[in-house]
Order: sequence, then structure tokens, then C-alpha cells
Amino acid sequence: MNSPEILPLPMWIGGKPVSSPNSIAVSDPASGETFARVPDCTRTQLDDAVAVAQRAFAEWSLVPGERRRAMVNAFIERVVADTDVLADLITREQGKPLPKARSEIGSAVFFSRGYAAVELKPEVLRDTPQQRAEVRRRPLGVVGAITAWNYPVLLAMWKIVPAVLAGNTVVLKPSPNTPVATLRLGELAQEIFPPGVVNVVSGGNDLGAWMTEHPDIRKIAFTGSGPTGKRIMASAAGNLKRLTLELGGNDAGIVLDDVDPAAIAADLFWAKFSNCGQVCAALKRMYVHRSVYRAVCDELVKVAATVKIGPGTQEGVDIGPIQNKAQYALVHAMVDEAVAAGAKVLYRSPVPPGPGLFLPITILTDVTPEMRVVKEEVFGPVLSITPYDDEEQALRWANQGEYGLGGSVWGSDIDRATRLAARLDAGGAWVNQHPAMGPDIPFGGVKGSGIGVELGRLGLEEYTSVQVLNVKRAA
Ligand code: NAD
Repeated sequence: MNSPEILPLPMWIGGKPVSSPNSIAVSDPASGETFARVPDCTRTQLDDAVAVAQRAFAEWSLVPGERRRAMVNAFIERVVADTDVLADLITREQGKPLPKARSEIGSAVFFSRGYAAVELKPEVLRDTPQQRAEVRRRPLGVVGAITAWNYPVLLAMWKIVPAVLAGNTVVLKPSPNTPVATLRLGELAQEIFPPGVVNVVSGGNDLGAWMTEHPDIRKIAFTGSGPTGKRIMASAAGNLKRLTLELGGNDAGIVLDDVDPAAIAADLFWAKFSNCGQVCAALKRMYVHRSVYRAVCDELVKVAATVKIGPGTQEGVDIGPIQNKAQYALVHAMVDEAVAAGAKVLYRSPVPPGPGLFLPITILTDVTPEMRVVKEEVFGPVLSITPYDDEEQALRWANQGEYGLGGSVWGSDIDRATRLAARLDAGGAWVNQHPAMGPDIPFGGVKGSGIGVELGRLGLEEYTSVQVLNVKRAA
């Protein structure tokens, strides 16, 4: 699919392609050029989408679970078959290198298959001649799904699949920065699911806000920033919507004195710089024992020097551009501020010339806890490294701040590292890896990083309500 043919893309409401009076331009961050236009959904169109989803729910929620599972698996296979098209769209709108875009789809498929393998069976609490009491899981109704721009297809699949598997219907809104591949997913879903089960609308932040206050949406499944998450929580109060909020993170990694710096350097590096640092659970702050600090810094610089930044369509490129101008300016400003306040640049990579939103790989030392690069989430290719002498001090630093998504401890003595990791104030506590995820492993944050989890049985349960069926059999 090349640029002229994909203008314009429709939304998918009630099984039909739908355009809007206004549209949103989508640009390629590697060139700055507009390559697609998508509809800017009106409030009336959102109401239509919710209404058809509500009507579809009446039947879809009664479809036997095994039949729903079969359709979900057929949808996943349809996505597999469409990998070339989807990967091309992801690279163009998000910027990541084509092989990484293909991996994003591979991961989306892998995690979705994991969801599709989960069965939510009734849990029998009592089964006596007098009484039978069981906990059942029932679908909620229309789910409003809202996603961010770093992994458009992965995040969309993480919401569509559990929502419809559990018997809900969906209205999904991707980020206005990266709506294109998600609209394509919507098109694929129409080939598999009855009309109205999966609806995909595109629009800006207002559209998200209309969804969160909509009286007929029963749950919001959200991935995005902390400030937006707080707004959603307030706005969802109107009809007591269920929420999963997968928000930002400012994950710390503690590197103990018994590591082999050369052996872990590549893992540490990619824990931060994958996807150009645009990962919620990236290792954003590193605390390294002073005895290995120099060696760890040197090894990280060696890895950084091998990495190639460039357009995602170019062969051999490891890291693409930052996805959007606002993020580019923000990350730039945070680094400039830190350097002006005394931070040292240990490494800064070259970037390709031209209009693309390329930011250098930047490794900072001599940072202080007051600097924004340390206390706020840096969603870009910037890592700060701080030496420590006392493990308890490192732990206090790691646990500072409003976020609590993930955290890691790196060491050769696994028991020692595990004991320290268990004391991290984070939803994910990882040893010698960062992040660590699996389709059967719940993922989610504590503190300002969110509410609820995705993935695994616990993730699927988030798309259900509890019903206690309690039968008196005899007096
Ligand atoms: P964002 O919060 O600006 O936008 C996310 C989505 O919310 C977009 O679709 C946007 O249009 C919509 N939105 C904006 N305002 C809204 C409102 N008032 N009501 C409803 N919806 C609204 O976030 P972003 O910049 O797209 O994404 C980056 C953030 O996402 C980072 O903080 C990152 O850490 C986080 N993130 C978290 C996870 C996770 O699983 N925890 C995964 C990926 C990204």
C-alpha cells in the first residue's frame, strides 16, 4: 500500500466504512510529510458508534464463549496474514524501523493468542445439598478503548481481543498521531466479527473526552499519559465506568556491585532505547554501584556507538525518529535544561540531517533528583546514570516519584537481587531484565502509573463484572 492509495481512510462503525466532514492529517515523522488523512469523528458519529455497539452487545454477549474464541482466533490469523500492510503503515506513521514494526505485530499476535487461551470458568464457592454459590464473570457492555502512539497495533489488540473475548463490544479510538494502522485493523475486524462488535473511530483529544463521559460506555480501557489518565478518571465518574488505566512510568534500574558490565551492557542499553525510548516501561533512570560505575558507563557507550539512527524504511536502521513534534520539543528541552543545570553528556550520537524528527541517543551523568530528566518521564532516547555507594540509598531513589510501573535490579547473585527487587514500589519488579512481559503475566502499574492490569487471566477479568449466583437448594 503506497501513500496515494491510502488517502483517505474511513472509520468503521456498525460494519460500514464511514467518513467525516473534517479530517486529520497524519504525517511521517521521518520526513515530516503528510501521507494520510483520517476522519475527525463528530460527536453524533460517536453516538452512532456507541449505539450500534450497544445493539450488537445484546447478541454478542449471548454467543457461546467457544464461538467467540474461534472468531477471535480467526481475527488474529487475519492480522498475521496482513503483516506486510500493517507493518508498512506502522513504520510510516510511528517511525520505527520496518523489522521492528513487524515485531510489533508479532508481539500483538503472541499476546492476543495468550488472551485467547484463557478460560474464565465459574468459581464454585459452595456446593452442598443446601446451597450452591459461585462467582461468575459477565461482560460489561460497550468498552471504550483509547490508545497511545508508541505501539499502535499492539495497544489496540491488547484491548480489542480481551474485550470481545469476554463478550463486550468495542469502540476504539487510536491516538490522532497514529490512527492509520488501527483503522486498518478495524477493517480486518469487519471481515470476522458481526457488525457493531468492533468499531474504530478516529479523532483528537476531544473525541477521547466524549467517550469517557458517554453514558452508554460501561468501561474505558486506556493507555496513555498520567495527566490524561487523571482526567479520564474524573470524567468517567458520571456512570461509574470501570477503568483500566495503563499510564506512564519513570522506571529505575539498580545495578549491583557484582555485575559483569560487558555481559549486561546490551540488555541495559535496549531496556532504555528500544523504540527510540518511547516505551512506558523503559528503564529511564539507572543507579549503578560506584565500584562498577565507570565500567558500566564505558560499556553502554560502546553499545551506543554501534547503533544506527535513521528513517524506518532504510535498511540497517536500529532506531527511527521520535513520533511527533511536541514530544521532540519536550525531550529536547528536558535535556537542554539538565545540561544547563550541570548534567554532563557522556554520549550523544549523530543524527541524520533533514526534516525528520531524529533525536540523538543521549546518555547523561551528573544529574540531580530535581532535574526533569530524573523526576519526570522522559519518553525519548535519553538515559540518566547516577552512581551510588549504599544499596538502601539506591532503593530510596528508585522508589521516589509519582510513578510505579516497573523497576529492575541487576546482579550476579540472583537471590540478593531478587530480595531488593521485591522492595521496589512498582507493578513489575524484574531481575536482570527490563521490562519482562508474557501473555500469561499481568502487566500494570501502581501509584501514578495506573489502575488495573492487562494480559493473562487477571487482564481478561478486567473486562468483566463479578456476579455471585447463590442458589438455596434446601432449608
Ligand atoms: P496521551 O495521554 O496524550 O494520549 C493518549 C490517548 O488519549 C490519545 O488517544 C489521546 O487522543 C487521548 N486523549 C487525550 N486527552 C484525552 C481526554 N481528556 N480524554 C480522553 N482521551 C484523551 O498519551 P500519548 O502521548 O499518546 O502517549 C504517551 C504516554 O503513554 C506516555 O506517558 C507513556 O508512558 C504512556 N504509555 C503507557 C503504557 C502502559 O501500558 N502503561 C503503554 C504505552 C504508553
